[in-house]
Amino acid sequence: MEHITQAIHTDIADADDMHAEYLALTSAYDFDSAEEASARFSGKQPGNVYSRFTNPSVEMFERRLAAMEGGESAVGVASGMAAYLAIAMTFLKQGDHVLLASGIFGTTTHLFRQYFGQFGITATSVQVDNMEAWETEFRPNTKLIVVESPTNPMMKVADFSALSRLARRHDALLVADNTLLSPIFQKPLELGADIVLHSAGKWMDGQGRCVGGALVGSHALMQPLKAYLRSSGVCMSPFNAWVFSKGLETLEARLNWHQRGAEKIFNWLKSHEQIESIYCTYDPAHPNADVIKRQQSGHCPIITFKIKGNQKTAWQFINALKIVSRCTNIGDAKSMITHPASTTHCRYTDEEKQRHGLSDNLLRICVGLEDPFDIMDDMAQAFKLVGDVTASSNLQSECFSI
Ligand SMILES: *Cc1c(COP(=O)(O)O)cnc(C)c1O
Repeated sequence: MEHITQAIHTDIADADDMHAEYLALTSAYDFDSAEEASARFSGKQPGNVYSRFTNPSVEMFERRLAAMEGGESAVGVASGMAAYLAIAMTFLKQGDHVLLASGIFGTTTHLFRQYFGQFGITATSVQVDNMEAWETEFRPNTKLIVVESPTNPMMKVADFSALSRLARRHDALLVADNTLLSPIFQKPLELGADIVLHSAGKWMDGQGRCVGGALVGSHALMQPLKAYLRSSGVCMSPFNAWVFSKGLETLEARLNWHQRGAEKIFNWLKSHEQIESIYCTYDPAHPNADVIKRQQSGHCPIITFKIKGNQKTAWQFINALKIVSRCTNIGDAKSMITHPASTTHCRYTDEEKQRHGLSDNLLRICVGLEDPFDIMDDMAQAFKLVGDVTASSNLQSECFSI
């Protein structure tokens, strides 16, 4: 059975005759006897104990996601960042070293450098698509490789198979943040990753309502993570788990629709005269086009581009948009635009911004589910306005016609 079919038909174990899955909105559970309570607490008998670490709605989400990623087991947690926290607390100790892909989600870098650094864990950033650098930076105490592919917003791609061979050789764990592509377009476990990580509030929710995170992998790796969850309390809310479970049912349908719209917008945008450069995995001229072909079955509907001009031009463009939301999130039915240098990546130093290509005229659009031609029209009127404002540069844009 296909993974998606299996996921859609995964229900709460002893569900009643409701067709839609019920929401297990409960913190605690009623035991039949003192003996049963004791047996469940000690783990001698399976069953729910307390929703900090077991809840039927959360478990349904975990089983659905594990099926879709092709993993044995999954653990739902409070957020994507809580998933990183759980990994570090479970698998790292003082003196360990971590390799982080450069250009990874800014808060992830901050968490490792600032907070885990306080406990004697060191981290080095490595250019995501430079295998030689990964080899060189490996140390005897390197325990974890953390990669996100493609990276956001620059859409650089990591070669998971090559990285997994490297990790295996050194007995380190390869963690793949699969938030941007989801299991629909990429299955890192099949490519050799040990653990897949998700920020569930992006594509899984798909409509920007809930915050949540998840980890997927073998029983052997998920079991200690579950034990950590019991002691730490970074748990997923049952309500959020229910929303994500329903989101997983429509994930493939939605992502194909997002992708279709984004491809149209990319093809229009790439030759626009007010564009300096464009970054997107749809691009046949992408420097890692061969890896993309090998490991992705689709594309993340994020398009990053440099508008001709400077920060002022970029901000004018954002402010002129009428349909596209000014929002730094990704994975919503509504198209959103952001200026990474002054928002998501504002904690980067000027040198880091330059190294990662996060220039002042860089913009990122995450394409929603609207009619793509309406988004193009909206962008066309914003380009025209910006063109008129910067008339000295002689830029003229014709309005896009449907
Ligand atoms: C949003 C995001 C995170 C963080 O997840 P939260 O759920 O916001 O904590 C981690 N990785 C990637 C790629 C993200 O986009």
